[in-house]
Amino acid sequence: MKYIIEHMEDGFSEWVTLEYSRIIRDVGKENLLLTSLPAGTTEKDIPSRLLDLGLQWTTEECVNIDPGKFVKDKVCLLDPAAEIDLTPEDSDKFEYFVFGGILGSHPRIDRTGILRKKYGFAGRRLGDLQMTTDTAVRTTQKIVNEKIKFNDIKFIDYPEIKYNKYESTEMPFRYVLDDEGTPILPEGMLELIKRDAEQSIDDLLI
Ligand code: SAM
Repeated sequence: MKYIIEHMEDGFSEWVTLEYSRIIRDVGKENLLLTSLPAGTTEKDIPSRLLDLGLQWTTEECVNIDPGKFVKDKVCLLDPAAEIDLTPEDSDKFEYFVFGGILGSHPRIDRTGILRKKYGFAGRRLGDLQMTTDTAVRTTQKIVNEKIKFNDIKFIDYPEIKYNKYESTEMPFRYVLDDEGTPILPEGMLELIKRDAEQSIDDLLI
């Protein structure tokens, strides 16, 4: 299975760099491709951490990759507005899974709709709550590679992240739980969330 992220964000935030790093580790560098980077992008525009992990990227739109192989009926767009949920049987139909388009806003903005309308790929939903990109890839991997049904995957919705004794923040996403019942987040994400939260409290105090 190939996982494709149509990168629709402006540049690479720390958040997205941590997410993409985790995805490369989860699916393998040869199975992830970042497409649609702005024309003129060079290696200097890509965080070195991602390059060091072997990130594959292109300024081409996903429809122009793997000519002859990337045919429309082998492509599944992971789309929160799709009418059907992804199932293990979909692994027989699709080879490419395309992600991208919602910018973490809550409530979500339907930017995946741009991809849906532009390319007309078959869409599949991963339940009715917004996931982070690495969670959406992890969930897809569990369904199509490990053949686990969506309803058998253990999730937590809107977990509370405690960043000191008194304060916490609610994450507006659904996450997969690990065997210890802890939400799976990319390495370094917890620290980033804590830093951001402390920074905004400091800003309030100024
Ligand atoms: N970095 C990405 C970009 O540049 O567009 C942002 C991707 S967005 C935060 C997460 C992606 O995961 C969505 O665009 C969608 O493809 C997929 N996704 C998240 N929640 C989903 C759901 N409930 N059902 C289907 N797909 C979902």
